[in-house]
Amino acid sequence: MNLFMPRIEISLFQIQKNAQFLSELYMGKGVSIMGVTKAVLGEPSVAKAMIQGGVKFIADSRIENIVRMKKAGISIPFVLLRTPLSQTESIIKNVNISLNTEMETLRKLSYHAKEQNKIHQVIIMAELGDLREGVLLSDLSQFIRKTLSLPHLAIIGIGCNLACYGGVIPDDKNMQKLSELVDSLEKEFQMNLEIISGGNSANHEWFKSCQNVGRVNNIRLGESILLGCETVNRKAIPGLHTGAFQLVAEVIESKKKPSLPFGKIGQDAFGNIPSFQNRGIHQRVIVALGNQDAMPSGLNFNNKLKLLGSSSDHIILDSKCNSIKVGDEVRASLNYGGLLSTMTSPFVRKHFTDCNGYGAI
Ligand SMILES: *Cc1c(COP(=O)(O)O)cnc(C)c1O
Repeated sequence: MNLFMPRIEISLFQIQKNAQFLSELYMGKGVSIMGVTKAVLGEPSVAKAMIQGGVKFIADSRIENIVRMKKAGISIPFVLLRTPLSQTESIIKNVNISLNTEMETLRKLSYHAKEQNKIHQVIIMAELGDLREGVLLSDLSQFIRKTLSLPHLAIIGIGCNLACYGGVIPDDKNMQKLSELVDSLEKEFQMNLEIISGGNSANHEWFKSCQNVGRVNNIRLGESILLGCETVNRKAIPGLHTGAFQLVAEVIESKKKPSLPFGKIGQDAFGNIPSFQNRGIHQRVIVALGNQDAMPSGLNFNNKLKLLGSSSDHIILDSKCNSIKVGDEVRASLNYGGLLSTMTSPFVRKHFTDCNGYGAI
């Protein structure tokens, strides 16, 4: 059978095993997992594999992805990681829990929850230094007070997110800060905070090395389930599969060519002025894959094929000593950017290599 190219080959078995391994590891210290599906656009069969692996929630940053998973029949608490004011009505309709940092948004969530006769659950995100989403600690107490006055919302937890923007590493210090915050808020407001969501795949090293997770009892994991690595140093986590996603693309030209372009050099396709090293005549291949399909720097080609450059629809590789002909397949493993871009491209076919029992569609 000739399979379509470019395609991304997805092993649901490996994703399930990763989710299971991490669920057992984290549950060992009383920490539940939200499986984060945004990098796969809420692909329902990936969510199902995560659920079979033991995640307790599915979290995504986009309501469209959550709606997609619900339509596919997935029923588990859904968590929205990013809460736009303009989507509050749909969020109440489709999502059980949302992460929040803005009073105006919370007011509107409460308004629509009343309209729809619901109580919406919220997790308030605290700013612990990474400077992406989060209520500043000096404002947190007042923020909680105001939120408690909104009748159709229930504050079920506190969370924080590190590493994604500022690169701030989760450590004992900031995690302990989170625990102290929780203790003091519970005391001040005589409340019980059920979910303390300490972070994402970047929390792995802290989690492994810490003596005590404190009040943290939840973690939101995307990349480590999908790609098997932690995200502070991008090291593989022993025991996890790192090849659940593989990109396969087709060679459309294979020729010996000089390594230096000839003629006067101006701008390339994206407005950059390229520069080249002279490495003599060498074997090059062009792959039918371009910036519209994948972020080239997110691809790691096997057989040591070296990325020379790319444009919208072509990737040029130094094929070294490999004998590669037109029509051959080349394979690449993916980092997070590679995964995100290929899953997002409408040109890359999603191909499940082991869909039995996962209800892949
Ligand atoms: C994307 C995201 C996550 C998951 O991050 P990974 O690095 O993929 O584990 C967790 N929390 C929030 C708020 C996110 O936006």
